[in-house]
Amino acid sequence: MTPTVYVDLTKFKENLLYLTHQCQKHHLSLMAVTKVFSADQKLIDVINDVEPAYIADSRIDNLKQIETKLPKVLLRLPALSEVEEVVQYADISLNSELKTIKALNESAEKHGKIHQIILMIDLGDLREGIFEKEELHSVVKKLLTFSHIKLLGLGTNLTCYGGVIPTVDVLNKLIQHKQDLEDTFDITIQLVSGGNSSSLELMFNNNLPKGITNLRLGESLVLGRETAYGKSLKNMHSDIFTLEAEIIELKNKPSVPIGPIGMNALGEKVTFEDKGIQKRAILNIGRQDINHTNIIVPNNISILGSSSDHLLLDVTHYKKPLSVGDTLRFKLTYGGILSLFTSKYVRRSYV
Ligand SMILES: *Cc1c(COP(=O)(O)O)cnc(C)c1O
Repeated sequence: MTPTVYVDLTKFKENLLYLTHQCQKHHLSLMAVTKVFSADQKLIDVINDVEPAYIADSRIDNLKQIETKLPKVLLRLPALSEVEEVVQYADISLNSELKTIKALNESAEKHGKIHQIILMIDLGDLREGIFEKEELHSVVKKLLTFSHIKLLGLGTNLTCYGGVIPTVDVLNKLIQHKQDLEDTFDITIQLVSGGNSSSLELMFNNNLPKGITNLRLGESLVLGRETAYGKSLKNMHSDIFTLEAEIIELKNKPSVPIGPIGMNALGEKVTFEDKGIQKRAILNIGRQDINHTNIIVPNNISILGSSSDHLLLDVTHYKKPLSVGDTLRFKLTYGGILSLFTSKYVRRSYV
């Protein structure tokens, strides 16, 4: 069989309903983040059904094809070269560069639209966002003069590059910025987006500061875990997405290659431990589809490695009888789901 990723739409709906209710309970709006499954429309339809406040993706190509009545949010900072499309296909975008906001304003005017933005503040994780308070004030001062831009809110992104964990202190800084701006410019800032799935631990412990009004959730939705500590969340599924691939060779072989050892197929230096003769299975999936470190195998199977088109497993201790033509099913990490949905060689099956 062609390698297939199975998508359990019922479990996805249950995860989404649960997080939507939990966010409501904590007075938060939710942006359902769709980038990990390449904004697959079957999953989007579930989102349309549950109706969280927003649908969000990092790629304009994904937003373009999403069919929904919900407001669309572009998560990655718009490239200057794509502002026309951003204005056409996103209602809201996350921004940190005045030059880009100015271009968005010009494009929005041309299309007779008001484009809403969330200004990103860098609270120390050092991915996107305005870092200096002076810059923040001068950007806001300028953008308030733009006729076709609305400042919808402030946001921050944590636990992405620097691994900075959201804490009450860190998020209070965001709320402080909001109050400063409201006082200085006599404006109301509607939305304060307090991060991604790494902010859920605070929320569930009732520690999320009051001024936070929104979360942008992706990984928690699809894997049922928060991402500050990697804890599984109660009442949520971790197996919405599973991968099935077929055994194309099954043989007993030594565990150490025979002959002088250089690099593997991907130019990586390799070493081997002698474990004697192993029962080894080759499956019809490889690095072009997924890095093997993103496949979660059962306890009695271990991953030997992978090349472009082959996954090698040690199945010596696997209890059930196996033969060529059988398939195996695996759970996946976030990175695994991400790459499988990008591979054109992997089928999708919905249950
Ligand atoms: C991907 C992304 C999210 C969602 O993050 P998760 O950890 O998957 O919840 C939120 N915000 C931005 C800006 C993102 O790029």
